[in-house]
Amino acid sequence: MSRKQLARSGGDLSRLGTDDTGATMLHLDMDSFFVSVELLSRPELVGRPVIVGGRSGRGVVVSASYEAREFGVHAAMPMGRAMNLCPFAEVIPPSHGLYSSYSQKVFDLVAQVTPDFQQVSVDEAYIDVSAAVRRLGSPVRITSQLRAEIEAQTGLSASVGIAGSRVVAKLASTRAKPHGQLLVPLSATREFLDPMPIEALPGVGEKTKEGFFRYGIRLIGDLAAVDEAWAGRVFGAHGHHLWRSAHGLDSHGMDRQVKDRSISAEHTFNEDVWDLSQLEHELLRLADKVAHRVRADGKVATTLGLKYRLADFTTLSRSITLDAPTDLAREIYEALRPAMRNLREQKSKGVRLLGVRAAGLMDFSASGRQVRLDEAEDSGREAEVALDDVRKKFGTAAISQASLLRKRPEHDNTGPDHV
Ligand SMILES: [Mg+2]
Repeated sequence: MSRKQLARSGGDLSRLGTDDTGATMLHLDMDSFFVSVELLSRPELVGRPVIVGGRSGRGVVVSASYEAREFGVHAAMPMGRAMNLCPFAEVIPPSHGLYSSYSQKVFDLVAQVTPDFQQVSVDEAYIDVSAAVRRLGSPVRITSQLRAEIEAQTGLSASVGIAGSRVVAKLASTRAKPHGQLLVPLSATREFLDPMPIEALPGVGEKTKEGFFRYGIRLIGDLAAVDEAWAGRVFGAHGHHLWRSAHGLDSHGMDRQVKDRSISAEHTFNEDVWDLSQLEHELLRLADKVAHRVRADGKVATTLGLKYRLADFTTLSRSITLDAPTDLAREIYEALRPAMRNLREQKSKGVRLLGVRAAGLMDFSASGRQVRLDEAEDSGREAEVALDDVRKKFGTAAISQASLLRKRPEHDNTGPDHV
């Protein structure tokens, strides 16, 4: 079962009530965002099973229409598996650039409601409307208007959870999907959370779930009923965090939430750089830094970002949606290098700062990435993971650029650092 299906299995929502006093945290999540964006230009496919994702053997499902989900297809599933489940689905490769422009339109509308929002992915944000209530009305009213506005301006639909905290708002938006909104009144938080399966709680993966099951904790309500100190003793800091979530409490500030959702690194050059091999060297170093942290978190990235700042502080960014998620420096580097080269050619100016960002993070175990290890072609994964151990022992300085690319002799001539 996917996390979404899990979050949907819970109690009766009609009994939660309608008092939205103090329920000022919204979680907005666009409905099957990538598919919906594609359908805007292919109206003939509306109502049919549609999958956005890479068609190749290593491809995964980026997004599936609700019609395809009926067959059990969901995001992060290997495409081969998805095609077995739903052979007649229309598969559309991701359109680079299109998603971020629609995303921008959506969040421009959110920004008109309040500046107090945190975008956590291309189609998702937490919005604190406490400062907007006086001007725009109650949280439920603000939500209805915002959803109508998004639909009118972009043709896309959003679902929104309305609650007193981020964790409850997120679970509520999942229950509201698609095309819906759900208020969890402050007084109904327990009633909402208690009957949900423990693995619906953000941060509970397969391993943690098994741990909870050993102690008979199967529902969020079971975890809420134990002592916080016990949860901390058995599960460490994560136990405290999950226990707080089970009570509908957020552990971190909004910034932390954002950090959890993307991993980035950037570098400011001492002098503006124009030399391509020097730029490529830095891009690879940043890709390595980011990939290392993505792996350390047990994640893979589905979206990559490039930040490119010129001497006059003009900052350009490029976002790339991957056919297959990655946690490898070499793949991040290769995905971003064409964008960097294009910017360099377009702008013909020295570069002040370069940045690499990995986003749309999903659990490695859910990514279908293992499938690739069985393939004949060496993905280079083992080599990079081995480097993680070297780092642990000797520090980052022990890693040379060459060791990252050594499996790819065709790169030997792209610059002095790649030999
Ligand atoms: Mg979404």
